[in-house]
Amino acid sequence: MNLNDTTADVGGNLGEVRRRIAAACARCGRDPREVRLLAVSKTYSAAAVRAAAECGQRLFGENRVQEAAMKIPQCPSSLEWHLIGHLQSNKAATAARLFDWVHSVDSAKLLRMLEGHAAALGKRLNVLLEVNVSGEISKSGAPPEAVPELLGMASDLRNVEIRGLMTVPPIAEDPEEARPHFRRLRELRDAWAAEWGVPLEELSMGMTHDMEVAVEEGATFVRVGTGIFGARVYPGQGTP
Ligand SMILES: *Cc1c(COP(=O)(O)O)cnc(C)c1O
Repeated sequence: MNLNDTTADVGGNLGEVRRRIAAACARCGRDPREVRLLAVSKTYSAAAVRAAAECGQRLFGENRVQEAAMKIPQCPSSLEWHLIGHLQSNKAATAARLFDWVHSVDSAKLLRMLEGHAAALGKRLNVLLEVNVSGEISKSGAPPEAVPELLGMASDLRNVEIRGLMTVPPIAEDPEEARPHFRRLRELRDAWAAEWGVPLEELSMGMTHDMEVAVEEGATFVRVGTGIFGARVYPGQGTP
């Protein structure tokens, strides 16, 4: 696996991202402390993570379990790790061990497996249910109609806590195109929280190009990769 060191000014970029979040909060009257920044370090090396950690960044997001398993042991133990990519059930045990949060739970089977693994580890695991609000076929995430079954399981979970919802809207050039999907996630959250009596306080939504829109629509986690570390280079793709 080829992981890249970053050539970006990580400290400067983190400052800029935090300014963008603060400006969006100011526009809609939110407290910037309600919005936590996940630095998405996928494809980037442990050295890149350490550079961000030295600038005060503590929360990191990874989308692949195997890559994270290589990287996390080489990073300071004070960091908090969030899995944001699709999780296959055969990697659930490793994911439960490595991560503090899993943002991408989309089935009853995965929820049960994570509960079993977290219990075996004597660990508390925070999960978000990933919802496919757009109905786009290619997207991961549970369709909204499948989510009530998962919420119904919450009271049987001991080591896993369902903390909220996550979504990834369809790729669009104009960040405004993401707004209806973010808003829909918040509305679903409000309805489900009332119906099932679970707080679902966290909304994980927004990436580098649409984080302001996500903050305006209620995001509590924004997941920012390229805005911090620079454009990603995937193996075999050459430099952008
Ligand atoms: C890669 C990724 C991000 C970060 O995307 P950027 O455009 O680099 O900010 C956010 N969320 C998920 C689920 C991702 O896979």
